[in-house]
Amino acid sequence: MTAKKPGVNTICTHTGEVKDTQFGGAISPIYMTTSYPFMDVDVKRYPRYFNTPNQKAVADKIAALEHAEAGMVFGSGMAAISTTLFAFLNHGDHIVLANEIYGGTFNLIVEEFDKMGIEYSFTEGIEVNHFEEKIQSNTKIIYIETPSNPLLSITDVEGVAKLAKRQGIMTMIDNTFASPINQTPLDLGIDVSIHSATKYLGGHSDISAGAVASTEKNMDIIWNKAKNLGGHLNDFIAYLLERSIKTLGVRVDRHNSNAQYIAEYLDIHKAVEKVYYPGLESHHNHDIAKKQMHGYGGMLSFELKSDYNAVTFQNNLKLIKPSMSLAGVESTILLPSLTSHGLLTAEQRKEIGISDNLLRFSVGIEDVKDIIADIELGLKGSDK
Ligand code: PLP
Repeated sequence: MTAKKPGVNTICTHTGEVKDTQFGGAISPIYMTTSYPFMDVDVKRYPRYFNTPNQKAVADKIAALEHAEAGMVFGSGMAAISTTLFAFLNHGDHIVLANEIYGGTFNLIVEEFDKMGIEYSFTEGIEVNHFEEKIQSNTKIIYIETPSNPLLSITDVEGVAKLAKRQGIMTMIDNTFASPINQTPLDLGIDVSIHSATKYLGGHSDISAGAVASTEKNMDIIWNKAKNLGGHLNDFIAYLLERSIKTLGVRVDRHNSNAQYIAEYLDIHKAVEKVYYPGLESHHNHDIAKKQMHGYGGMLSFELKSDYNAVTFQNNLKLIKPSMSLAGVESTILLPSLTSHGLLTAEQRKEIGISDNLLRFSVGIEDVKDIIADIELGLKGSDK
């Protein structure tokens, strides 16, 4: 007997799938066509209308996971973010953004918004009062990202949503780091949830995609902008994304348990100065994370003590790959001081808590004992 409300792993596996009515195959067939009939049809399908069978299949699955009425998939996380922002912001509007947001989103704002006459303010911190103090009479959107990159800061999602609702402001979240398995922001009052599906939703470091989920009404507004900007997802990649999400629940469970284990291991390690992980009781907003997240995620950062060299540590690793991206099944690591925050001075980095010895660790799904053994291998000989 099928339960009335499917569980999260059942949604991952089945929701949205395209039925193979011709041959009865078990999985969604791939429809690569760009040309569909226009006469006597309810829906005029076209890839840039975001409504082909494979695009719809994966969008519906993501919407179900986000507890949203509707969803859309894009060619990248940035296509999803830019389209969504431009759908709701007009000349003369103002947006408040968290000061800890993904670098690409930051660049989009500072390089494009002035030209379009859109005002913006970044907060001084990630607490609710930091958002409140930046609100202006023309503020249209509050935009948050939690957990944040690379310090895994936690913002009180419900607190920000309530603040915004009181003032008639719309809220958006970049839910990439949590994934919909660990966080369902619409349940907490957020209006629009956005993903770089290149990360956990894809999960195998081999596809670029983005996703947005919200109400039907909001998604109509986003769709109207999206078909003009053209950042849609190719059908083959849509199929691969659907396939990836079938295992999202089991992958994320494993990411969560491995990361918790490693965070606790590093937290008491003699070579480690500090660990940033929302699942640790020592995390500054652990109580909020506990309230709003179903799991604490696979991302953590840690700072080696000053008598260790983080570059040597990274070069010594055999299993954990130094890598720019994150959230694949394989463990990857990077130095924010040489990548996302490389253009800041050492002094500026220090001010925001990013030391040269800080490592951002995307914990994979390998056996945790092998990950720990590799960390120990990395540490060997990396003390100065
Ligand atoms: N949001 C977050 C949190 C990210 O880490 C990234 C990429 O690293 C993006 C958005 C942008 O996604 P994409 O690279 O798929 O455009």
